Amino acid sequence: MEAPPSPPGTNAGAAAEDCCVKVAVHIRPLIGDERSQGCKDCVTVVSGKPQVQIGMHSFTFDHVYGSTGSSSSAMFEECVTPLVDGLFQGYNATVLAYGQTGSGKTYTMGTGFKDGCQTGIIPQVMNVLFSKIETLKHQTEFQLHVSFIEILKEEVRDLLDPNSLNKSETANGHTGKVSVPGKPPIQIRETSNGVITLAGSTEISVSSFKEMAACLEQGSMSRATGSTNMNNQSSRSHAIFTISLEQMRKLSPVFSGESSPNESEEYLCAKLHLVDLAGSERAKRTGSDGLRFKEGVHINKGLLALGNVISALGDEKKRKEGVHVPYRDSKLTRLLQDSLGGNSRTVMIACISPADINAEETLNTLKYANRARNIQNKPVINRDPMSNEMLKMRQQLEYLQAELCARGGSSSEEVQVLKERITWLEAANEDLCRELHEYRSRCIAMDQRETDSLDGSPYSLKSDGLKRSLQSIESSDYQMGESLSGDSREIDEEVAKEWEHKLLQNTMDKELHELNRRLEEKESEMKLFGGINTEALKQHFGKKILELEDEKRIVQQERDRLLAEIENLAASSDGQTQKMQDIHAHKLKFLETQILELRKKQESHVQLLKQKQKSDEAAKRLQDEIQSIKAQKVQLQQRMKQEAEQFRHWKASREKELLQLRKEGRRNEYERHKLQALNQRQKLVLQRKTEEAAMATKRLKELLEARKSSVRDNSAVSNGNGVNGQTNDKSLQRWLDHELEVMVNVHEVRFEYEKQSQVRAALAEELAVLKQVDEFASKGISPRAKNGFSRHENC
Ligand code: ADP
Ligand code: MG
Repeated sequence: MEAPPSPPGTNAGAAAEDCCVKVAVHIRPLIGDERSQGCKDCVTVVSGKPQVQIGMHSFTFDHVYGSTGSSSSAMFEECVTPLVDGLFQGYNATVLAYGQTGSGKTYTMGTGFKDGCQTGIIPQVMNVLFSKIETLKHQTEFQLHVSFIEILKEEVRDLLDPNSLNKSETANGHTGKVSVPGKPPIQIRETSNGVITLAGSTEISVSSFKEMAACLEQGSMSRATGSTNMNNQSSRSHAIFTISLEQMRKLSPVFSGESSPNESEEYLCAKLHLVDLAGSERAKRTGSDGLRFKEGVHINKGLLALGNVISALGDEKKRKEGVHVPYRDSKLTRLLQDSLGGNSRTVMIACISPADINAEETLNTLKYANRARNIQNKPVINRDPMSNEMLKMRQQLEYLQAELCARGGSSSEEVQVLKERITWLEAANEDLCRELHEYRSRCIAMDQRETDSLDGSPYSLKSDGLKRSLQSIESSDYQMGESLSGDSREIDEEVAKEWEHKLLQNTMDKELHELNRRLEEKESEMKLFGGINTEALKQHFGKKILELEDEKRIVQQERDRLLAEIENLAASSDGQTQKMQDIHAHKLKFLETQILELRKKQESHVQLLKQKQKSDEAAKRLQDEIQSIKAQKVQLQQRMKQEAEQFRHWKASREKELLQLRKEGRRNEYERHKLQALNQRQKLVLQRKTEEAAMATKRLKELLEARKSSVRDNSAVSNGNGVNGQTNDKSLQRWLDHELEVMVNVHEVRFEYEKQSQVRAALAEELAVLKQVDEFASKGISPRAKNGFSRHENC
């Protein structure tokens, strides 16, 4: 039977956390045999520390239980409960019991489970497991499987095989249980992602403590046991009880403190190996017959390999050098590959006997266990790839959300506004770029023109566009011929017009530039005025002047009053009054000077005020000037625009004209060709007719000649010597016929000749006309426009 596929995604879970193999020492009390032998306790535990002393040796472990170390009852809580919890989080775990035979491995692990006895690690694990499942089952779906195998003499045996159940009774105590014949042996296999599986072992699905306990009990009973000198109950096989826990979190769970909402759809799977190793004592100490010895050697093969693996993994130097770890040296190490230096949290419990007779083995066990402490494992959460991916994405989402918040939590509205602004800015930028490009090209054209005008002739300028258009006309598939050469004047005109336009634009640009410069100048001047708060200043000075005037008035009043007093005093003149008069005079003088000063001050203020007024006026003027420059600028810009618009219009119409001209040219060309062909035909007809006329003339001449000669013949006959009357009649008859025929012929030929002459004259006339037409056509004048001649009339 093939084992169910191993859970997917092992090693693909969360980042591996380094953790060392934890080692606890379990010291059992002296047992009956030892007591009866009068053995002494040779192991001491340093009080309050996980430290064991034996003879001169001292070892420190993670925990020490029993024989006045921590109480054994604390072992499960401290060493195994964390592993069970980890199982629920998806971490693999392993508990190994190591020690010589009779040291208490089976007792510690609880592998010898019988009748619901709940001491030992495995029963306690089952207890905790099911109570935990009970509390979590409403939010998570669980599936539990158990397998129980033993490795005896390098052979993996299935302790839960239902077929071998009945056979256990027939198996004798010495050789252990015999495999069922025909059943393939259990194979250790490694999946592509490095997971070790057992192919062919029975995995039983269990859903309750009772079911699992039954499996444990059944396996324990099946386990091969043979009595040795050391322990007549002990097994020389390695027993591995494995619990597989698969869990699928339900979609809408009620969250407990442990699980986060993010893990709501998670699939996890983990395995817990509970290993009861065979006795670690040396083979010689089993000391029995050859068969036993052989077994001892085999046992030690597995433990030797385990020792080598521990040594390779526990030595930091070797680990760093990447030394080969001999997992494949034995079935045991191969099966425990993940538990040692791999994907598992591992606890080793070193079981020792405190009896002095076992001191040597106890020391060996402690040394062995001590090395195991250095092994570093890398347990990871075993998820299936899908949930793994989902978790990753969730984490990413969270990260992005956090980042979004960190960026000031800008709302989507804000983003929208910003986006709009960006679009607007981009559009503006594009416009500006276009403008810049335009200005640049204009500038280049300007430069070009300047160099051209240095050459002396504005007509030598041909703008690129113009050149191009000319080229396109020249290279077109028909020839404009002379009609085009007739346009050269127009093209010159066009060049001139363009030149004029550019020149105008240039001067306007310059003007604009000048205006801008002046505007800048005036504005900076204006700023100087603007720097002072003129109104406030004016008010200030006005107030000051008023104040001064008041002061002046008061002083004048005082003076008048004093003058009046002096006059009074002068009227009643005596010694005393003279004195008073002096004082008054003095005071008066002082007042006079004061008035003078005030007047001066007032005048200077008035002066200042006047100056202020002047500067105000200047500022006003400046302002006006600025206004007018601005207006001029606007006007100029408008003019430039108008001019450009006009030029554009002109250019467009010009192009249209050109197009028309091209069309016309094409039509003229066609007409010309047609005329030429016609001409040719007329010539041919004329030639033929002339030839016909010549032929007719020749024939006429021949006939005339023939008539003359026949007349001569007749006269010769009539003048001859006697021709009979019959002969004369016949010949006369023939002559008359001949004469008649000649006459008819002559008449015909003459008629034909006249007709041909007429035709010839008409053709000659037509030819002349055609020649004229051809001439007109080549000069670009439509023949139809010039005369109403129809070429088809005479055809
Ligand atoms: P092993 O499996 O290592 O060969 P066992 O577990 O069979 O050793 O133990 C040998 C004997 O010692 C058994 O009779 C067992 O009851 C006893 N024993 C082992 N450990 C303890 C312990 N902690 N307290 C009391 N008795 C123990
Ligand atoms: Mg045992």
